[in-house]
Amino acid sequence: MDAYIYAENYLRDELLLADVPEELAEELQPGCQVLFSPASNRRKNVIAYILRLEKSRPAGLMADGTLVDVLNSAHPVLTTVTMKLALWIAEYYISRPIEAINALLPAPLKTTVQDIVELCEFQLQSGTEKIVTTTLRKKILRALQESNKPTVRQLERKLGKHNLYRTLTVMERGGLVQLKKKFPQSGPKTRTAYRLRPNLSDEVTEPLKRAPRQAEAVEKMRQSQHASLFAQDNGIARQTLESLVKKGIAEKIRVEIQSSFSTGFTEPKKIIEQLSSAQHHALKELSNAFHSGSFTPFLLHGVTGSGKTIVYIELLKQVLESGRNAIVLVPEISLTPQTASRFRQHFGDDIQILHSAMSNQEKYDAWQNLRNGKARIALGARSTIFAPLCNVGAIIVDEEHDAAYKQDRTPRYHGRDTAVMRAKLEQAICVLGSATPSFESYSNAEKGKYRLLRLPDRVDNAAMPAMKLVPMLENRRITPSLSEVLYLQIKERLKRDEQVILLQNRRGFAGSVLCMECGHITMCKHCNVPMVYHASSRQQRCHYCGHAVAFSGNCPKCSSANLLYKSSGTERIAEELRELFPEEKILRMDVDTTNTKGSHAIILNAFHKKQARILLGTQMVAKGLDFPDVSLVGVLMADIGLNIPDFRSGERLFSLLMQVAGRAGRAAIPGEVYLQAYNTDNPLFAHLLRGSYEAFYQEEMVSRKELHYPPFTRMVVIEFTSPDETAAEKSASACVDHLRSYLKRDSCHILGPAPAGISRMKGRFRYQVLLKLQGRPLAADYLKHLQYSLMNTWKKHHLSMIIDVDPQSLM
Ligand code: ADP
Ligand code: ZN
Ligand code: ZN
Repeated sequence: MDAYIYAENYLRDELLLADVPEELAEELQPGCQVLFSPASNRRKNVIAYILRLEKSRPAGLMADGTLVDVLNSAHPVLTTVTMKLALWIAEYYISRPIEAINALLPAPLKTTVQDIVELCEFQLQSGTEKIVTTTLRKKILRALQESNKPTVRQLERKLGKHNLYRTLTVMERGGLVQLKKKFPQSGPKTRTAYRLRPNLSDEVTEPLKRAPRQAEAVEKMRQSQHASLFAQDNGIARQTLESLVKKGIAEKIRVEIQSSFSTGFTEPKKIIEQLSSAQHHALKELSNAFHSGSFTPFLLHGVTGSGKTIVYIELLKQVLESGRNAIVLVPEISLTPQTASRFRQHFGDDIQILHSAMSNQEKYDAWQNLRNGKARIALGARSTIFAPLCNVGAIIVDEEHDAAYKQDRTPRYHGRDTAVMRAKLEQAICVLGSATPSFESYSNAEKGKYRLLRLPDRVDNAAMPAMKLVPMLENRRITPSLSEVLYLQIKERLKRDEQVILLQNRRGFAGSVLCMECGHITMCKHCNVPMVYHASSRQQRCHYCGHAVAFSGNCPKCSSANLLYKSSGTERIAEELRELFPEEKILRMDVDTTNTKGSHAIILNAFHKKQARILLGTQMVAKGLDFPDVSLVGVLMADIGLNIPDFRSGERLFSLLMQVAGRAGRAAIPGEVYLQAYNTDNPLFAHLLRGSYEAFYQEEMVSRKELHYPPFTRMVVIEFTSPDETAAEKSASACVDHLRSYLKRDSCHILGPAPAGISRMKGRFRYQVLLKLQGRPLAADYLKHLQYSLMNTWKKHHLSMIIDVDPQSLM
């Protein structure tokens, strides 16, 4: 018998042909993880995966090696569907099949070092004799009685035998031993933090008046929302903190860094008595499609607070009842603990939540739970789409517009599109849900590729929040970041004991220059994206087409020198707020305050319990939080998101602002949203104030069409990087030449080469070529061939060529 396999550590990406020894033949199935001994290097076994098995071999064909053993107790690690999905990813996103297979499987499944054998408690039964027949098996049992739970490697060494997995698998089936993976319990990672000693009297801190840095540190620690403060954060030198320790004012502690998973967020279970009629209608459509048993993709367009979650939950109840399984994708679990906990409340142990912060053992156990059918719903971020479930009947992609669904390393798959593909292979229904669908999905719905379901209203007759624009150029400011209008609104809410969420959009500060006087941002006249500032050449450049203009250091429109280049942090705004509201506890949620274990949950819990009434943060505060007392949302620089050199910046900003606005107001208290902005003329705001996604979409689509952007074209970015700038640029030019002669002119636009938005990263120069393709995607074989040949030509310059199909970020 022959096996066609994809093997690890193999530079070629074709299928390999392997001889199958007779004693192994009956254990093998497609999807099995095996050990392969390549003909080129007999001594080194590599992990491989069986695509298919065949009885006879075409004449003259030579095997590339031999299969020597089978892993994972001979249970296939890839299902028929996930194997097909891997091959689709390799083809569509242009990667090697083995890379796609590796992306499908969690890391702990791909190592054999942790495999152990355990002796089972067994009585001598009839049948046992049949299994303990050979001397090898007897030897194994004897060795295990001497030392239980050795690793397979230790056992092999002890017995002087290779490739014991097959024998152990047979013995496992006979109930004699168990094969497992046991990962060493790596202790949680910790780091040093400092905090004030409890019950400090003023006398102790009084003398600090002469040490302003230390006084400042003490002040910051007093205000810190956590019990501790890291040295590296908040710009305090470790020295300063150490001096405070010496003086007995502060103390040093070890705190745990985020490692294992727990959302740590709980809320009482809420009983929903009755679905609204829109919810009922949507559920009925979904349920009918599900029971028809064929692939149906849906787009569920439901405004914020329209109650999408309960529709998913009711649907999944039916899916489980009818004996099928399900997958739920969320953009990021730690940011949406409410969603995960609501599913958990309904499905208990039937649901397996997957999280990147789980330990290897947890990941491995979770994977086996799903593989063995102990859990029937997998919920998690992007890679959960590869859950080893069979017979999947429904796949839900919550917040389908979220860019976090795109993987930013090879294979660069999009979780949402992969979900649709898996649903197709499973004959399942797929529900993409969002208040602000991606334009790709919405246009698919318009074209009838997806069925559109709407939840146009909030549940419980709650009104959509009223949105107001605050033009920063005309309004008095109380502090550099805060207008008087917004300040008065915050004050008013606090008086009524309601809650406030403030958003500072960080994504806007990506390399471009904003005039603080007039709000001007220089755009490329060819591509209509913001130009990126290059300090070294004192130019602003378009990183789509390479167009460059000299940069004087003054605003080209009003010649002010008051320009903003980079991050305007939440930290500074928090300080301004503290001065304005000295009595108020202010929660800050951004990358700096969420790097310890469970810190998201700590902050959200505190806000949920109303231990604080102001929550200030980056995009993190915009995601699906559902807190009934929030009546005001303020956005500090609402137009800053337009300042990103990406054709999707408008779409992204609209979606972010809609999402964060959606946090305001529920049935009992109506919500209001204040958007501070410079560039208030942008039509985006008019649509936003009217709450009209549809109108915004239609208008944006006109310019997308004119400029040949997705969804009218399919985009591919090819990036060339090398420590040698000439190599990066020349190889990119060579690529363009090849592509021009290969592709028909009318079916594509080729832009570049141009330096990438961040033109140099980790000592490597980056050049990009941008393709806008019409109709059929590029042949994967052709591009891969080009990739190998260019990388080979520029090998001396360590050239790397990265292909990104349907890129989500163009920096
Ligand atoms: P979405 O995800 O669409 O923004 P959620 O699913 O978070 O909205 O629902 C918003 C809130 O409305 C939640 O607190 C939820 O419990 C509640 N809710 C949903 N459906 C109903 C209903 N039919 N009756 C009462 N409350 C509901
Ligand atoms: Zn200006
Ligand atoms: Zn341009």
